[in-house]
Amino acid sequence: MDYKVLYRKYRPDCFKNIVGQDYTVHMLQNAIIHNKIAHSYLFTGPRGTGKTSTAKVFAKTINCENIVDGEACGKCAACLSFEQSPDIIEIDAASNNGVDDIRELINNVKIAPTEGKYKIYIIDEVHMMTPSAFNALLLTLEEPPAHAIFIMATTNVESVPITILSRCQRFSFRKFTIDDLVKQIHYVCEQEKISITEDAIQEIAYLSEGGMRDALSLLDQLSANGTEITLDSILSNYGSISLKFIHDLLSSVANQDVSAIHKAMSELQATSSDYKIFIKKLIQELSSIAVQISSGSYTGNFTYSQIEEIIFKLNDCLNKVNINISPFLLIEIILLSSFTNVEDKKQNVDNYALNVDKILTEKAEKNKKEEKIVESEHKTKVENAINEGEYLNKLVQIRVNNCFVNAKKDDLLKAKDVWKNVLNDDSIEPNIKSFILDSSVVAASSDYCIITSKLESMVHLINKNLDFLTDELTNKFSHPVYFVALSENDWKKEKQTYAQTIKNGGSYRLISEEELSSLKPKVYSEIEEIAQKVFNRDKIEMV
Ligand SMILES: [Zn+2]
Repeated sequence: MDYKVLYRKYRPDCFKNIVGQDYTVHMLQNAIIHNKIAHSYLFTGPRGTGKTSTAKVFAKTINCENIVDGEACGKCAACLSFEQSPDIIEIDAASNNGVDDIRELINNVKIAPTEGKYKIYIIDEVHMMTPSAFNALLLTLEEPPAHAIFIMATTNVESVPITILSRCQRFSFRKFTIDDLVKQIHYVCEQEKISITEDAIQEIAYLSEGGMRDALSLLDQLSANGTEITLDSILSNYGSISLKFIHDLLSSVANQDVSAIHKAMSELQATSSDYKIFIKKLIQELSSIAVQISSGSYTGNFTYSQIEEIIFKLNDCLNKVNINISPFLLIEIILLSSFTNVEDKKQNVDNYALNVDKILTEKAEKNKKEEKIVESEHKTKVENAINEGEYLNKLVQIRVNNCFVNAKKDDLLKAKDVWKNVLNDDSIEPNIKSFILDSSVVAASSDYCIITSKLESMVHLINKNLDFLTDELTNKFSHPVYFVALSENDWKKEKQTYAQTIKNGGSYRLISEEELSSLKPKVYSEIEEIAQKVFNRDKIEMV
């Protein structure tokens, strides 16, 4: 009855069995071999990437009495009693996050280890500790006894105070690659005599998104009834979409086969598949095609920029909190809009404009009186789509100008501070956080703020949501602040122009945004927005 879940049973017990974290393993072993062991370590990375397992192997090794080439011997008294050793103290901060537990820990830290050379504290999910617990820990980290070593692990390094970060040697654990996972699943299935098909192994690796714990837990569940694990059994249990399906769909996209794409997407819709898993798989597959294109080993019909465009759009789609229409219709349009041939594209856009039209008309038929309004809105939104680009360009110019008028260092520091705090504020909308995560504040006056982002698509996305950003952050600044985003290159140019203007004795004056009001796009529902995009593309191609 002594059943151990697979993840625990196959935890690595020495460095050479740690999969996929070669750099970290190399550095830790080097530290052991050259006797340069630090007092505090911080292991960061997503869940299930082996942080705690590695911490345990490290702890076991440094307490071994007979270390061979940076690896524990596995035979000495310390190695044999490692699991029960009173010198290895494991703390799960997620459940022991009070200051009392940490105080107790500090009191004990001064007492020498009972058996081994070191007393090792493994603190899991360290970011969950309360601020006072952090402070208590900090005091110990400042002057640790020679025998004490702290290994802290976290999935959320942003929440660990800088005072702790600065005292630790940091190692980031990366997600496992599909290959790493496949290899390990293979190995475990062989050892456990689990019968499984090759495509089922691939599917489990995909579903577990880089986490070994998730992969082996899935395997645990699937192997419970003792029958062979097949792709079908996984797909029917987890509502997933097979790799072959993704491959076939992407070749249809590369070959611009509209009816095959439509058929595939209808199938997904009919089986109510999970669109998020579907998008993630598509992106993963597209990324590997992008790598093949870069390395010259790709033989299909995709171009690099096509892949890039689809990935960015799919990612946007994934980040949407609410998709009101069928996500599969949205994905279908994204895939179709990537077609390179203008004639084909135009035809597909026409087809889908018809499709979208049909949905709009059906909606309108419910109330005949509304039909006329829908038609006229339909017209405006085409004009609107063209206006949007122009509107945004002008708005960006005006706001950059206005920010320069009164830009001050104090305002910049304040804005930077707000930026930093937003990430830790749970009341802030996640979309806003995603803007802030990739962006930096580069100039600010009391009313205006210029931010930059490395990604061109992000810049556009932020600028499309400036009102939203102002609304969400008004409280933080205690008055409304008007934002504008630039790419890093554009910011460089704007800065140069500014410097030149000032040098030549020129000056900046405030420009009112009033004059833009006639261009400002109206807000439409999602389906109409899509129609807009489709029409907009069509227009651009025709000009
Ligand atoms: Zn040993």
